[in-house]
Parts: sequence; structure tokens; C-alpha cells
Amino acid sequence: MQLYTKILIGMAVGVFLGFLVGPNSSLLPNTGVDLGPDAKVLNAPSGAPMPEATGLKTARVVEEGAAAEWLQVEWKLTPNKVLALSTQGVSAKAGVTYHGYVSASSPDVSRFAPLGRSLIEYTEWIGRLFLALIKMVVVPLVFFSLVVGVASLGDFRALGRLGGRTIGYFMVTTVAALVIGVGLANIVQPGRLLSADDRAQLLASYAGSVGSTVKSAAAAPSMLDQLVAIVPTNPVASLANGDMLQVIFFALMLGIALTLMEVSRAQPVVDLFARLNDAMVMLVHVAMALAPYGVAALLFKVVGSTGLSVLVALAVYGVVVIVGLLLHLFVTYGLVVKFGARLPVLGFLGAIKEALLVAFSTSSSSATLPVTMEACEENLNVSPRITSFVLPLGATVNMDGTALYQGVAAIFIAQIYGMDLTVGDQATIVVSATLASVGAAGVPGAGMITLAMVLTAIGVPTEGLALILGVDRLLDMFRTTLNVVGDSTACAYMARLEGDALEIMSDAEDRANPKRGFERRLEAGPHPVPEHGSDPE
Ligand code: ASP
Repeated sequence: MQLYTKILIGMAVGVFLGFLVGPNSSLLPNTGVDLGPDAKVLNAPSGAPMPEATGLKTARVVEEGAAAEWLQVEWKLTPNKVLALSTQGVSAKAGVTYHGYVSASSPDVSRFAPLGRSLIEYTEWIGRLFLALIKMVVVPLVFFSLVVGVASLGDFRALGRLGGRTIGYFMVTTVAALVIGVGLANIVQPGRLLSADDRAQLLASYAGSVGSTVKSAAAAPSMLDQLVAIVPTNPVASLANGDMLQVIFFALMLGIALTLMEVSRAQPVVDLFARLNDAMVMLVHVAMALAPYGVAALLFKVVGSTGLSVLVALAVYGVVVIVGLLLHLFVTYGLVVKFGARLPVLGFLGAIKEALLVAFSTSSSSATLPVTMEACEENLNVSPRITSFVLPLGATVNMDGTALYQGVAAIFIAQIYGMDLTVGDQATIVVSATLASVGAAGVPGAGMITLAMVLTAIGVPTEGLALILGVDRLLDMFRTTLNVVGDSTACAYMARLEGDALEIMSDAEDRANPKRGFERRLEAGPHPVPEHGSDPE
């Protein structure tokens, strides 16, 4: 069976189990209850608040009122919790079972299946392990491949031309994505279709999580500071922190420096980096062998933790975002792939399928980067000097899916607040979301953080983020996938402009040749290097 089939099966298993035996499952007993910050635990159905429940986050349901208007819950306190309560002047005992009552209809009270939650806790490490394995390769892979790429280019003008074209292209497609998103949101008006009840419920359930999102957005430095900060004062620190733009800058400079040296002196360094790069590529394949299990665990967690009621309430908004992403994919990218890169669109998407599946499951374009680079080089025959420059830069600054989603989300939230946006406001959305998508890191949920900047720019309250938080993780999977398609499209188009002979490798060729593509790459087994560095000939 081919790797991508195995990954697809892993995804399907994760989604299926998420619905079937996740915390929101209707098959498992829903005997757990989550208590939001404003939930009130009373000593009788309409009694007085219980101090022993201060700060309580989860409890167990023991009884349900006849008309389902209240729930009797029980909980125990740990010694730490007792200590924390005593500092607030509440005396309680550890290990004692307390009983109280909560209103079943309060938006701060939501039930879940404890078994489903335990299953997620037991399996989520598999997803984290897979993610860690590919993320481990990102920084060294980008660094080594870019130094080798630039050193073998030997022509600064070519480098400048590639850089200029790539950045210009990124800007044009991001604005195109925003025009699609803003246009669709104006036509469909998803905000006007949300009922007042759903709106109150969403605002109450997710209000607590908004504070940290807004705080992270407020800490963002100015544009000029960000530009200057691309030059690292300590490149080792940039590598250690995984600051991608700084790593790219340093690798470019090191590559240029190597081309300015005598070839005989530069060559050993380039050779060493090229071999280290090969080793990193091998590690990508090792990590990908784990991908089917990793994506199953990742999707089980996401699907299991997203409530069905949020999905229903936000269905129109979600559909507008997804339709927008599909339009951008098939219209904007479709045109570029067909006429710019001169490749068949479906063949192109098929060639990068492994990267798309990983992007969808991890919601991180930066974690997917090694797979995207490998897919473009191996399956599309793009030269490493192009992939090593365009893809890391794209994964950091080119996020069309994020920009499009931010356009729709900003208008959706404004519509719910009953605000009429002028043409000027809409233009502000396009400009601020372009910058916000450039500023977003390629990690899960980053687009949501920088969305706060877009909302502020048009004067929409940032508390409105609570309205979309419930489905954000799910939409993140779709927009990240589009982000990765966008980077790969740019890569193929730039490669064509630079004169690369692009060629799609078929699945049959991939299977036939263990040295190329994603199939059978680990089959050759170990080739130990002779000791004491003797020549392996
Ligand atoms: N998760 C997205 C990415 O990695 C960024 C976002 O949150 O929109 O590309």
C-alpha cells in the first residue's frame, strides 16, 4: 500500500473515532461536566453558591433534574486545591466528596464523556511525537539546503531576481485571496444568518479564551522593527529559536560568502552541508513512516474536542470560508499552475499530496515544510536552489488561506455586531489582513491571533473572536492546506520562470524507484560508514 493511502486511512480512522468515542460522543455516557469561569455551583437547585466549588473546572454528574433544568454534580478536592482555597479564606477538606447543583442550560456548563476525554489523553502523545519528529528537521533542513542552494547559484543578480519575483508574487496572490474572501462574505452575509441565541451562547462559552489571544496580538512589534529584526545579531540564537526569517537571512549571507571565496576553499563546506542536507531528507522519510499513526491521533483529538452544536451554529460561516478557499485554489492557483507553471492542475495537486495531507492533519505549514520541499523536489522536479529559497520563505510569510479566512471572519464578526462596513473599511481589511497573514507564524491557530489586529483596524470589538473560536481549529486545517498549496504553486511557477524542467512523477515511477519520491525510501536499509573516515569506495 502506498504511503499516502496509509495516511488517508489514518485520517479517516481518526475522524471516525473522534465522532464515535470522543468527549462529545453520544454513544458514551456523558457523565462529565465542564464548568466555565462564570458557572455557579449551588447547594440546592435554587440555593446558595458553594464556596468549595470556587475555581472548579470539571465535575461528575450524579443526577439530572426531571425537566433537565438542573444537574446534581460531585467532585473531590486535591490537597493543592484545598491549599489554594484556604488562601482565599475557604476551608475545605481533601478527599471528601462534595455535592452541588448547576443549571443545565447555562452556557458555562457543558457535558462531556469522560471516557472519550481519557482516550484523547492516552493517544495524543502519538500525534505530538510525529509532529516533533518532523519539526526536528525543519531548521537544519532549511539552513543546510539554502546555504547549498545559494552557494551553487553563484550569481547575485539571479538571486535578487528570484527574491523580487517571489515576494511580488506572494503579495499579488494574497490580495487576490482577500478579494475572494471579502467578496464572498459580502454576498452571503453569514453574520446576518446567525440566530441571537447562538450568538449569546458562543460569546459566553468562548469568552474566557479570548483574553490570551488578544494579549498575544497586542505584543506584535511595528513593521519597520520587524524588517530590521530579520538581520540576526546572533545567528546561533536564531537557529536555536527557529526564527525562520533570520535563519533564511543568515543562510543567504553564508551562501553568498561561500561564492565569494576561492572554489577550492569553499567546496568542502558546501559538500559537507550538502551531505548533512541529504541526511535531513532521510530523517523526513523516517518521520513520514510514522505519519499514518500520527495523523490518526491528531485528527482524533481535533474532531473529538469540537462540539457538534458549534459546528451547526457556525455552519454558514465555515462553508463560506471553505468555498472561498476552494475558489482561490481552483481559480487563482489553477490559472498560475496551468499557464504559469504549465502543469495540469490535478496532476500538480497529486504530486504534492503527501504535503497536503500532513498540512491538513497538523495545521502547521512550518511543520509541513520538510514534506513540501521533498514533494516539490522529488515529485515535480523543481531544483533544490528554488525549493530551498521559495518554500521556507513562503511557509513564513505567504499565507493566502489565512488571509482569506481573516477577511471572511472580520466581516462575519462585524455583521453579528450589526456594524455596517464602508468600502474604506473593507479596503482596510484587505491591507491589514495582508500584513496580518505575513505576520502569522506557520503554527496552529496563528491566524486567529493576528486576526485581532484586523478587527482592531476596523474598530470591531476583539471579544468577537469568541464567536468563531469554536470552529477555528477545524478551519485552520483547511486554510493551512491552502497555504501549503500556495507555497508549492509559487515554487513551481518560479521554477518555470528560472528555466527548470518541471515534470510530474507518476505513482508508478515513484514505486518503481526506491531512490526517488516518498515510496520505499527506507527500503535500502543501513549503509554503515567505514570507521576512521576511510574512503568508502
Ligand atoms: N495554521 C496556519 C499555518 O500554519 C496559520 C493560521 O493559523 O492561519 O499555515
